[in-house]
Amino acid sequence: MAKRLQNPRLAKIHRSYKIDEAADLYGVHKNTVLNWIKQGLPTCDTKRPVIILGSDLNAFHAKQRVKNKHPCKPNEIYCIKCKTPKTPIAGLVEFQPVNDKIGNLVAICPACETMMYRRISMAKIKQFSTAMGFVLPLAHLHIIDTP
Ligand SMILES: [Zn+2]
Repeated sequence: MAKRLQNPRLAKIHRSYKIDEAADLYGVHKNTVLNWIKQGLPTCDTKRPVIILGSDLNAFHAKQRVKNKHPCKPNEIYCIKCKTPKTPIAGLVEFQPVNDKIGNLVAICPACETMMYRRISMAKIKQFSTAMGFVLPLAHLHIIDTP
């Protein structure tokens, strides 16, 4: 299920919202708001009913937005240790086909030497190869050209 990203400027920062008010504001079900709370949206839980600050709602959605971003450029692979996309060292990239549509790129992060993995489609693999300025070993790519 794809997560819907909410506008991180929708809530009024000097206002506070009850669960159902927050649900109305974003046009979602109350359960969705309860899920946000489970995922870390802060509440003023000393009060009943539960009150959420507008500024917390905005901050929460801004964070979700960053989390859901896939900022990898064609020649980058996301390094989980550096928490940022990295350009692997040419020649140290391996392509492992999964099936005739997708495969995995495996490379070593130039900054921390952690193994990086990127699931990539056959359509994008040539783009990656071109962006990197080298061609991946033909032995690995013959699967693409096989009808
Ligand atoms: Zn790294």
